[in-house]
Amino acid sequence: RVDILPGQHHIDPKLVDARAVDVVKTLQHGGFEAFIVGGAVRDLLCGLTPKDFDVATNATPEQVKALFRRSMIIGRRFRIVHVMVGRGRDHEVIEVSTFRAMVADSPPPTLSSNPRQAFRQLEAREHAVDASGRVLRDNVWGTLKDDAARRDFSINALYYDPVRGVVVDFHGGYTDVRERRLRIIGDAAQRYREDPVRLVRLLRFAAKTGFEIAPDTMAPVQESLPLLADVPASRLFDEMIKLLQTGHGLASVDMLGRLGFDGVFPVLDAALSQRDPAMTEFVRAALRNTDERVRSGKPVVPSFLLAALLWGDVDSAWRKRQQRGEKPVPALHDAMDAVFDARIGGITGRGKLAADMREIWAMQPRFERRVPSVARGLVTQSRFRAAVDFLRLRGAIGQADPALADWWEAYWQADEGQRDALLHAVR
Ligand code: ATP
Ligand code: MG
Repeated sequence: RVDILPGQHHIDPKLVDARAVDVVKTLQHGGFEAFIVGGAVRDLLCGLTPKDFDVATNATPEQVKALFRRSMIIGRRFRIVHVMVGRGRDHEVIEVSTFRAMVADSPPPTLSSNPRQAFRQLEAREHAVDASGRVLRDNVWGTLKDDAARRDFSINALYYDPVRGVVVDFHGGYTDVRERRLRIIGDAAQRYREDPVRLVRLLRFAAKTGFEIAPDTMAPVQESLPLLADVPASRLFDEMIKLLQTGHGLASVDMLGRLGFDGVFPVLDAALSQRDPAMTEFVRAALRNTDERVRSGKPVVPSFLLAALLWGDVDSAWRKRQQRGEKPVPALHDAMDAVFDARIGGITGRGKLAADMREIWAMQPRFERRVPSVARGLVTQSRFRAAVDFLRLRGAIGQADPALADWWEAYWQADEGQRDALLHAVR
């Protein structure tokens, strides 16, 4: 254990969320250890403003809950506590997790007659792993040191005590941040086996930090990629969204090829290598747009990016149907159905996302009809703003009049009288 004292590191206390500090203080006053942990410490050491602050403690979820009036225990596989802080617009959730231990080796077949040892064995069983070494459960409490060892990359395993101003480091993460290196903790091949999603996380953090990947961390990547085939589609889908929506989407997709991730995200592969180069440029523009929004603190919705990824497919199916004589609107709806079945079909529980994507697509031909009845309906749609951004990107590749998106933007911002004037002007 290495403690990096205040003055030895460059964390700017002004970038540390005051409410996360309050949560840490409350836990410490309650007699527990508590630290800010994970991505927030990494970002702080890099001089970035973290987007959320997670807290780790040796208090159990029940003990945490008892200390905070507005809190609740969530999760089944990983039980953590959501502590609500602040009110109204300013409200925020701080995630508090109890120190957990790493996966143990397979538990022994028979329990020891020594009760203490038997208890340990039973505890170890909680960290069950399957035949390929993948973690099935890991809800076993541990020490701070245990908690650090189960984390993925050294730079994600740093703990910051904002009260004393000390950074605690067990795995050389502090040096790795300073030397701009991404290094997995422990044996890389084994850590990828335990949880293949770490491969995707490697790519995401490499894109985000621009750090160099340590040779030992990189060496088994290629041979480990097939493990991703066994990861549930919905978890991989969530990781893909994270890859695209955390402000480094374009860097991440460029990294896909460099790390040999071909075939891991078929939807991405297809979107980035379309027959029509303008369509590939459209997807890249959508990623760039999302990156800029995230970096300037604007909200982003996954439906916008996914609609952009699949637009090449939808658009060409739509054209084909129109060439066969179908009317534009029903042809578009048929095309959307076909693309959904082919590309997203397997991923269930995405009803809202799918509905939003359809809404964005379905608005595109309607934007061409600037008449009062259409306009009034369109501005009330929940994805109107995203659909206008989408229209703007289509304008940039010659699929729509570039001035159209500006007109709709103006219409959206206008009051009633101005709206009538805008409509009148295009009659
Ligand atoms: P971001 O800023 O993108 O959210 P993060 O580091 O906070 O990055 P999270 O996915 O929020 O990433 O995870 C929080 C922390 O939990 C990580 O920093 C890491 O220590 C740990 N962690 C998350 N996923 C894994 C995993 N698959 N294996 C091991 N540790 C993990
Ligand atoms: Mg995080």
